[in-house]
Amino acid sequence: MKRALNFNAGPAALPEAVLKRAEKEWLEYGDTGMAVMEMSHRSKEYEYINNTAQQMFRKLLSIPEDYEVLFLQGGASLQFTMVPMNLMEEGKTAYYVLTGSWSEKALKEAKKLGKAEIAASGKENQYKTIPSLSNIKPLTEGSYLHITTNNTIYGTQWHDIPAGLDLPLVADMSSDIMSRPLEISNYGLIYAGAQKNLGPSGVTVVVIKKDLLARSKDSLPTMLDYRTQAGSASLYNTPPTLAVYLLKLVLEWAESLGGVKSLEKINQEKAGILYSAIDESDGFYHGHADHGSRSMMNVTFTLDTEETTKVFLEEAKARGFTGLAGHRSVGGCRASIYNAVPLEHVEQLAQFMKEFSKR
Ligand SMILES: *Cc1c(COP(=O)(O)O)cnc(C)c1O
Repeated sequence: MKRALNFNAGPAALPEAVLKRAEKEWLEYGDTGMAVMEMSHRSKEYEYINNTAQQMFRKLLSIPEDYEVLFLQGGASLQFTMVPMNLMEEGKTAYYVLTGSWSEKALKEAKKLGKAEIAASGKENQYKTIPSLSNIKPLTEGSYLHITTNNTIYGTQWHDIPAGLDLPLVADMSSDIMSRPLEISNYGLIYAGAQKNLGPSGVTVVVIKKDLLARSKDSLPTMLDYRTQAGSASLYNTPPTLAVYLLKLVLEWAESLGGVKSLEKINQEKAGILYSAIDESDGFYHGHADHGSRSMMNVTFTLDTEETTKVFLEEAKARGFTGLAGHRSVGGCRASIYNAVPLEHVEQLAQFMKEFSKR
């Protein structure tokens, strides 16, 4: 078997070392006589997996004691609902910065539940730029400010995170969590579906400042109340055991590479290679994102005509590259280069891009 040159946007490439480890333990985990997904989530073996994943995630991202780490289900999309359900305050507005389709969806859900407004938007500019902080209205009275740190579809990323706000900052980090170090104290809540940078789909990580849990009301449905899983180490009901197990293996892999700082360095190198291929192509490839807002995770670009784009994608496919078509809403091309995408695959893609443009 030849592993694909996988540039999928999500679910996305997993580290080969993780898949091999999982294969080794597929039939029997430890000496339990059974596979991970056959074990009780109340067994001491699964408790170990759950606790280790929690602790490693905390350690890798330097999460202080006054934050809870939750493993939930329902994807990042359910967080579009749970965030306003739990964090909106009586008579106060929730503010959203629109930087792409995912933040639009988050705002749409918030509006169903209370007063939510746009604090700044990059929409008029085809979401090429992250709005500058000076364009964000002064916010004092709001219940929170929501941002999407990396915009998977448009290929933009926040490089200056708002700090020292008077209201909690909530961030959807689905497509760039663990790609760079974070100053957790800047945030009230962070959420991320695992299937881009953390593991397989099925588990969603939520990091929430403990004092914000006091905002949740007893009238909330039990499973939509952050306090439920916070009070039971995310074992209130049956968790996605296989996904959490794979998350743990991905975290161990990340640590073996030297942690998040090392990952960031590799990510910068990988992104640099592709953006250079775009910038040095004499206009053959056009980057979608403005330079200052370029994403390290999703590199979006277009070619002059649809016909050329089609030929590019077909030839790329024939060479083993997959997942390079842009999102159906924007077209063009997109290379998603999350943590698990090897540097060599990125080099091969850049090489192919150069060769193709010459021809
Ligand atoms: C993929 C993605 C989502 C949606 O995640 P689901 O787990 O499919 O709900 C939300 N936000 C961002 C930024 C994403 O990249």
